[in-house]
Amino acid sequence: MSALYTKLVANFIFPIQERLKHHDTVAVRKKMDESQWWPRERIEALQLDRLRNLVSHAEQHVPYYRELFEKIGLTAASIQSLADLQRIPFLTKPIIRNNLERFKSDEAQHLSRFNTGGSSGEPLIFFIGSERVSHDVAAKWRATRWWGVDIGDPEIVVWGSPIELTSQDRMRQFRDRLMRTQLLPAFEMSEAKLDGFVETIQRARPAMLFGYPSSISLIARHAEKSGQRMSDLGIKVAFVTSERLYDHQRDEISRIFGCPVANGYGGRDAGFIAHQCPNGGMHITAEDIIVEIIDKDGKVLPKGTAGEVVVTHLATSDFPFIRYRTGDVAVLSEKSCACGRGLPLLDEIQGRTTDFVLAADGTIMHGLAVVYPIRDIPGIAAFKVVQETLARVVVQIVPEDGCDSQVEAIIAAGIKARLGQTVDVQVRRVDHIPLEKSGKFRYVQSLVVGS
Ligand SMILES: [Zn+2]
Repeated sequence: MSALYTKLVANFIFPIQERLKHHDTVAVRKKMDESQWWPRERIEALQLDRLRNLVSHAEQHVPYYRELFEKIGLTAASIQSLADLQRIPFLTKPIIRNNLERFKSDEAQHLSRFNTGGSSGEPLIFFIGSERVSHDVAAKWRATRWWGVDIGDPEIVVWGSPIELTSQDRMRQFRDRLMRTQLLPAFEMSEAKLDGFVETIQRARPAMLFGYPSSISLIARHAEKSGQRMSDLGIKVAFVTSERLYDHQRDEISRIFGCPVANGYGGRDAGFIAHQCPNGGMHITAEDIIVEIIDKDGKVLPKGTAGEVVVTHLATSDFPFIRYRTGDVAVLSEKSCACGRGLPLLDEIQGRTTDFVLAADGTIMHGLAVVYPIRDIPGIAAFKVVQETLARVVVQIVPEDGCDSQVEAIIAAGIKARLGQTVDVQVRRVDHIPLEKSGKFRYVQSLVVGS
């Protein structure tokens, strides 16, 4: 019955829903199922072809790129090899922030607004068109199928908390029920909530757990501590993403839930860059994403050398991401994977750490809980949150044009709403926030837990 339902959803309900939303996810995934086995040269030929199309579309329809390409004398016809991509200057968050409207294609329809800032401490608002939604969903779908999990299989998602439910969220709740996806709000982790999460997972018997490694391993430890058996629920895989996955977390999750752990790397801004296969390789979604690794001066590094990850997302004609600097550090691998897929591999993804913070009443909360109230405020170029004690949080912000004069009060109210009204929130305007050792902002520091 359960397997039948999955088939019904994967082959019938989901495809119809995607069609209604102007997405062609199903067709994209089917193509990707084939191209993943192609030899590397054929995948690179596809990349070059799609890069030319993207550049050509951008020069005709995207005001920012029309002007940039004219200035540097670049045309789609002059892109002869993938190395020619290096003629295009890097794209950074400040550039997008300062030109937001000019990044929209004049042909774009059905754009959705997104924001991010979780992984770097530099908030960003940007747009995603339906072409890109299809490709991003297809990339994730393909990867879960590597682990025997299809759309429609019961799934538990441990993710940010939907505090204010809009009508769109209610639509999503309906959709989630249909798809048998259940959301556990990762931001609030009191003992009572953790008990409830363990119970929900036992009842749902999901095929897959999906979410932050820090939160999933916290639930695992809690289950073990309270003597709840989780290893016989039939969970096929725990897919973790958004943060660095530590070895001890991988061990705990896999031991306690009795399933392998798969790592996924990427975000809403850069796209779903790489997913791990059962043979252990972190396969880049190479049909859609070109990854370059650069040094601190912007020079492209050879395979095997650690540097900043720069991505070009080839399905972004509505709002192009070309040579986008992610701020993450990784290594392009020279190896190929035992699974036989031609998709190239990433190694050693570093520099995505998240800490927990504690609310005044002792509830353990995901670090993103204090990032969310800040990242959607316009006029903040960078920020850093330090929880000095249970009673005191210090926020540094780098203001820029358009920064609200009430920004201090807005941030303080947002953080108090999450951590407790008695918490003293100090907001300081600074000119610059120095990078941490890893070359990144360590945006949440907690002296209470996890530091
Ligand atoms: Zn593989």
